[in-house]
Order: sequence, then C-alpha cells, then structure tokens
Amino acid sequence: MNLIILGPPGAGKGTQAKKLEEKHGLKQLSTGEMLRAEVAAGTELGQKAKETMDRGDLVSDNIIIEMIAHCIEQPDCANGVIFDGFPRTVAQAEALDDMLLEKGKPLAAVIELTVDEEELVNRLNTRIRDMTEAGQAVRSDDNEEILRNRLQVYRDLTAPIVPYYKTKGMLSAVNGMQSIEDVEAAINALLDCDNGDRGCQSVSGGPSQ
Ligand code: AMP
Repeated sequence: MNLIILGPPGAGKGTQAKKLEEKHGLKQLSTGEMLRAEVAAGTELGQKAKETMDRGDLVSDNIIIEMIAHCIEQPDCANGVIFDGFPRTVAQAEALDDMLLEKGKPLAAVIELTVDEEELVNRLNTRIRDMTEAGQAVRSDDNEEILRNRLQVYRDLTAPIVPYYKTKGMLSAVNGMQSIEDVEAAINALLDCDNGDRGCQSVSGGPSQ
C-alpha cells in the first residue's frame, strides 16, 4: 500500500507517518529528512539544497524526483511507502504517478491533514521555546518568518495538488487540529474502510481498487 500524507509544514505529517510505518509495516519516505541528511553529510546535493531550505523555498523538482525514484527501488520499500512531504508540486505528483504506474503499485490514498495556519505558528513558537529551554538545537528553518514563507509556498505550489488528487477520487481530509491520538485514529479508520468495510466511505476511488 502506497500512501501520501499531505499538509502544510507543522501539520503533523511526520508524526503520523511514523505511526503508520509501525502499524502497517510501510516505509516512511520524508524528502525533508533526506535533504537534511544530505546537508549534514556535506554532499554536493546538500550544499546546493541548504540555502533554498533555509529560506523555506522548494528544492527543484528534478532533484526531488530523482531522490524518490532511487528510494522507492530499495528493498525496504517493497511493502509500500508513506510519502511525507512529497509531492509538493503538481509536477512531482505527476512524476510520482508515472513511477508508481511503471512499478504497477499505484497510490492507495492521499490523506490531507487540514490545519489552522495561526495555530501552526503558535505550535512552532511553543516548540522553539521548549527546545531552547531544554538546550536542544532548533532547525535552521524553524522560525516564524521562515514558517510564514513556507506556508505561502504551500498555498502557492503545493495546495494545487489537492484538486489534482480530488479529481482522481483519491483524497481524504482529516482534521489535523485534533490530538495526535485522535488524528491517528481518524487515519486508521479511513484506511480500515479502504480495506473492505463496505459501510464506510472509501478513502480511495483510485486505480488500486
Ligand atoms: P520538510 O521537513 O518536509 O518540511 O522539508 C524541509 C525543506 O526541505 C522544505 O522547506 C523544502 O525546502 C525542502 N523539501 C522537502 N521536501 C521537498 C519537496 N518534495 N520538494 C521540494 N522541496 C522539498
């Protein structure tokens, strides 16, 4: 089963992707984590991407698509993947469709975490305060000004993939403002529906069915 978790920065995609990874034996692929690993390792790709990431802008589609194309071929992705932070543009979504079609393993569902932007800013400021108090390092793109740019980038470049998947009948929205446990339960209810409970509204009208 291949899933996408979609939502603006700070919506809880990573947290929920990790839970899905444990529960369903899927592999979480976070393009943000991959890029940060490249930056930390000082690779050429990391050096190229760092400035863009620090501004809160998007790294080029080609770099991201190449990274994903490589990852989904790895043995630990054989059971299925949760795409976290990818796709972030319609071009990435189209490229993903092509890649999965070629592998014969299409998307099962796209789960959109819906959130209130001001609440995301509040959450970020609380997190920065807590981490600073605990003496932990804060990410270089973790500040309010950059978050506001990232939210703008989300609205301009990523939000258009919502209608892209909606048209394909693959999109399900979950209220991301609930507690972590309640969001998790809502996602699992959707996925269980997809696994055959005919009383439920299906999460996926896509080609996997
Ligand atoms: P994230 O941890 O997913 O919030 O990603 C951190 C940063 O990495 C983003 O602000 C972008 O600069 C970059 N990034 C991550 N995923 C993508 C993607 N799919 N396309 C373009 N840039 C990305």
